[in-house]
Amino acid sequence: MKIAIIGAGAAGCFAAARLGEEIRCSGRTEAVEIHLYESGTRPLAKVRITGGGRCNLTNSFRSVRSVEAVYPRGARLMKRLLKQFSHTDAMAWFEGAGVPLVVQPDECVFPASQTSEDIIAALWRGMQAAGAQVHTGHRAQRIAPRAEGGYTLDFTNGQTAEADRVIVTTGGSPRPSGLGFLAPLSLTTLPPVPSLFSLTLEGHPLSALSGHVVQDVAVRIPGTKLAASGTLLITHQGLSGPAMLRLSSYAARFLHEANYRAPLAINWWGAHNEEEILADLRQLTGSQPKKLLSNIVPPHLTARLWATLLERCGVQPDTRAKDLHAKTLQRLAAQLSNQTFAIAGRNPHKEEFVTCGGVALAEVHPQTLECKKHPRLYFAGEVLDVDAVTGGFNLQAAWSMADAVARAIAQQLAGA
Ligand SMILES: Cc1cc2nc3c(=O)[nH]c(=O)nc-3n(C[C@H](O)[C@H](O)[C@H](O)COP(=O)(O)OP(=O)(O)OC[C@H]3O[C@@H](n4cnc5c(N)ncnc54)[C@H](O)[C@@H]3O)c2cc1C
Repeated sequence: MKIAIIGAGAAGCFAAARLGEEIRCSGRTEAVEIHLYESGTRPLAKVRITGGGRCNLTNSFRSVRSVEAVYPRGARLMKRLLKQFSHTDAMAWFEGAGVPLVVQPDECVFPASQTSEDIIAALWRGMQAAGAQVHTGHRAQRIAPRAEGGYTLDFTNGQTAEADRVIVTTGGSPRPSGLGFLAPLSLTTLPPVPSLFSLTLEGHPLSALSGHVVQDVAVRIPGTKLAASGTLLITHQGLSGPAMLRLSSYAARFLHEANYRAPLAINWWGAHNEEEILADLRQLTGSQPKKLLSNIVPPHLTARLWATLLERCGVQPDTRAKDLHAKTLQRLAAQLSNQTFAIAGRNPHKEEFVTCGGVALAEVHPQTLECKKHPRLYFAGEVLDVDAVTGGFNLQAAWSMADAVARAIAQQLAGA
């Protein structure tokens, strides 16, 4: 019994470790060989750089209102898989593997040591316990079913391998050619496009405010339902921070199709609507009538940002509060709740974090992630059309999917 795993990243390595555990638990005595084929020179290269080298391996899910809000693609599947292997299961697995974890105030989970090396070491120990053999420098270029069952794998280094079961965990690829090795299987794939990126703005009217962080803003693309909220970071190039990354995730395909040109509306008061902002402004100006408007800074904004916003709204910052016309205040409230900018592109200086698209979810059984058209072939991780917003949800998807595949294979082997 030979199981081949293509791609030694988060999902592939965790699948190998969990397979070893499940097979040991099943008491199966017949030898099962697990082979990992990795195109790169070493496994887990991406996991090493996750979370800025600290590895945000999952999330406490305490602030998650709905699975849909964090998994723009694959929410239904993830709802099911999280019941089988949740964030608490992932945390228990890594802690059980000797990695103490911490939950940050923003609900992101990291190793207490603050280094991804500990996560890599734990996965490596799990793979060793499973007896998995790792073959680096093996880029799969073709996978084809054999008439007698199982699969033949061809690699770009000229080598070939055969396996009874294959798990594809090749991750996201920004280029459609990254899925080319699956061509003989005739599977439906969704064109890969980047997700989780910062945006540049036409003329960047806020460039002088680079480095400013604004808590709790709401951003949206007018004319669509695409909207997000959270902290906004103003950068040299444009806008970033959790709110923008989340919007880029929700709008990944829309923005790709629009060639990264679209309007953007910002509500600088977050969840507050125009009337509430107006009430806020009336209270602020009414209580300090002699002050200049530029000195009546709303508590969640900085003085420089406030002055810039006033100017953009066509209101003189050196107007005294008592001289402000009621209609001007109304206009100000209307603009602060819906200030529009023009998106001019995707930030060219950032590598995309994850890929939206991949093998269509309709191609796999949701419980086992086994391919419907090709039995004993499984998919896990970003190669499937599943991706998430930032916060540890992408790695959680890799762990949950790898666990589902490992359980399914172990059960099949136990019943064989
Ligand atoms: C800079 C950065 C930071 C990130 N930080 C976080 C974070 O903190 N938290 C979080 O949840 N997510 C984070 N992510 C996303 C997360 O890393 C991925 O979602 C996750 O690694 C996906 O796991 P995977 O196993 O599907 O793919 P990967 O981990 O990418 O592994 C795929 C593996 O397959 C190999 N491969 C590809 N094609 C072939 C082939 N044809 N043959 C053989 N091998 C192949 C690749 O070399 C790779 O090793 C980050 C991503 C990036 C780029």
